[in-house]
Amino acid sequence: MSRDATRPPRLRLDTPVTYLKGVGPVRAEALRRLGVVTAGDLLYHIPHRYEDASTVASIASLEPGMQGTVIGRVVSKGVLPTRKGLRIFQAVLRDDSGMIEVSWPGQPYLDRTIAKDDVLLVSGNVRFFHGRQLQPREFVNLGDEENGTAQGRVLSVYPATEGLSFKVIRGIIDAHLGELLPLVTEYLPQEVLAAAAVPTIGDALRMVHRPTSLAEALEGRARLAFEELLFVQLLQQRAKALARETRRGIHFENKRDLTTRLRESLPFQLTGAQARVLREIFADMCSERRMQRLLQGDVGSGKTIVALFSALLAMENGYQAALMAPTELLAEQHMRSVTKLLEPLAIAPLLVTGSLKARARKELAVRLANPAPALVIGTHALVQEATLFGRLGLAVVDEQHRFGVEQRKALGAKGESPDVLLMTATPIPRSLALTLYGDLDLSLLDERPPGRQPITTALRPESARERVLQFVDREIGKGRQAYVVYPVIEESEKSDLKAATTMFEILSSGPFSERSSALLHGRLPAEEKDAIMRRFRDGAIDLLVATTVIEVGIDVPNATVMLIEHPERFGLSQLHQLRGRVGRGAEASFCILLGDVSPETRQRLDVFVGSEDGFEIARADLDLRGMGDLFGERQSGVPTFRVADPLRDELLNEQARAAADRLLAADPGLDAPANAPMRRVLGERYARSLELFRVG
Ligand code: ADP
Ligand code: MG
Repeated sequence: MSRDATRPPRLRLDTPVTYLKGVGPVRAEALRRLGVVTAGDLLYHIPHRYEDASTVASIASLEPGMQGTVIGRVVSKGVLPTRKGLRIFQAVLRDDSGMIEVSWPGQPYLDRTIAKDDVLLVSGNVRFFHGRQLQPREFVNLGDEENGTAQGRVLSVYPATEGLSFKVIRGIIDAHLGELLPLVTEYLPQEVLAAAAVPTIGDALRMVHRPTSLAEALEGRARLAFEELLFVQLLQQRAKALARETRRGIHFENKRDLTTRLRESLPFQLTGAQARVLREIFADMCSERRMQRLLQGDVGSGKTIVALFSALLAMENGYQAALMAPTELLAEQHMRSVTKLLEPLAIAPLLVTGSLKARARKELAVRLANPAPALVIGTHALVQEATLFGRLGLAVVDEQHRFGVEQRKALGAKGESPDVLLMTATPIPRSLALTLYGDLDLSLLDERPPGRQPITTALRPESARERVLQFVDREIGKGRQAYVVYPVIEESEKSDLKAATTMFEILSSGPFSERSSALLHGRLPAEEKDAIMRRFRDGAIDLLVATTVIEVGIDVPNATVMLIEHPERFGLSQLHQLRGRVGRGAEASFCILLGDVSPETRQRLDVFVGSEDGFEIARADLDLRGMGDLFGERQSGVPTFRVADPLRDELLNEQARAAADRLLAADPGLDAPANAPMRRVLGERYARSLELFRVG
């Protein structure tokens, strides 16, 4: 063996983490799940919070009603079952001053990760329950470390994952930070840093990983948040500028032919908001520019009809229009309602889904390739290559957040740059929308069609279970239908959540044995899911036990009860979407949240119980949970921020916007040598978006 082979390779930012001390294949895999592949990624894996150990209280000083943070050693621990079947992990902590019981309901698995004699840092509420008890909001297992090491400094807490604890991550970062930091060179231009008054990247990374005070950690974080916001601003301003130059679209003419006929035959009047939004859309479609518009409207605000009018404008100009929905069931639902609305106009829409037989598909393909006006409704089967449009003039994407960026773009890329209308029921505040969707124009449906029954919403404790179920049964007795929603499909040893599968067994054999019920969840094959939903829609099923798969756009007017178990497990916006499944008919509807929740959760749920305004709820959700949860899926196409929060970091966002303005005004393609390092990092982070800068 040569001597070189035994010498560890010199560390570089692109060195795979597997070469790092303390990282074997298992840890490397866990790191990969956290998005950390190279040594450089490790530097950007920054703490999501800090425990300021200098503010730790003594256990003896905790009083019921207080919030507090303590550090103590586990003197005993165990899992307790309760009468209601919930399992609780409990530990008793001791410090020099005394002992306190800490209790984690529903987390029996902690028994495997917390050992006797481990030192825990726990913060939470103190309450009185057979003595003082701490209800942990957060905790950090410091392992068997001496209290002393944590005392008196700021403790970085890293996002962790199964099989890789915060503590191990901290150890790995600690071991390499000194070697890695000097490898990082500044990539933002000096003037930009100076204008925003943020530290250089090297300083910032040191500050976020190893702060000497919380203030320092925040200073470092500000720099990282600023650069994220700056990058997104650069990309979006560039996209907008390019769009302005190149976005020539179809010049439709408002002939008032089909659209007027639809208006005259509609069984209802358009709301003021629908009329306004249609004026905005028509103005776009009748201009030289290509429309790229996002229509935001709460569940039930009547987006479909807006899409339909827009489609008719395209058709009366001799073009085809396509409406894409995220599931087959939704496509069918649109198909049915649109067919009815268009009957007086003698227009029959076409349906394109994945389950079309080969022959029907071929016939449709021939029909669509022919450049004659048509309205096509479908799933993502619409964008598969076989679907060629002879003359696509308008592409509408319903529930757009359900699609990946690529799928969304693919429909717009069909034909000769059709106008594009994206629709979403996830309402977000305008300032945030502008940041996230800076390259789109926004329309807002902020008015509900009249005549809706308000939905009675209530939070009921576990002790009311029987009464709640009886109520549901009475509604079914009146001929109505009900949903019961659970957060998970199956029970697991990791949690004590009630699961849809088990509860379906219990409900359908017990309280609802006389009713017809069915189970719906995401692991069923798509055809089976659709078949169940069809039977529910047709009234053959009284009680649908489900996970959140029912959340998208389903319209069953006869369903009047939405019962949600473990409401603490859902985001407010998600609850709002679920509630939107009822209250669609003439009968009074109910949304019942069932379960015992912590005081904090109750506070959060009260926002939902007290409001039917999707915007207000989304805003509260953002404040409480942050962006990541609201948008969930990475593929949503919304640039995800790791550090920044455009809503909370409003000032930084303003500074980033101003900086991007200045940079692009002076150097629109970011071609100047001074901007090269920034452009390189921009390219590494947003590889695909960087194409924007290739044109200029
Ligand atoms: P969403 O915005 O959630 O997609 P939909 O388009 O499905 O809402 O509309 C919900 C219901 O409201 C549909 O049954 C639709 O026919 C009805 N609707 C839409 N606009 C009006 C209106 N202006 N007046 C009365 N009902 C309306
Ligand atoms: Mg809809």
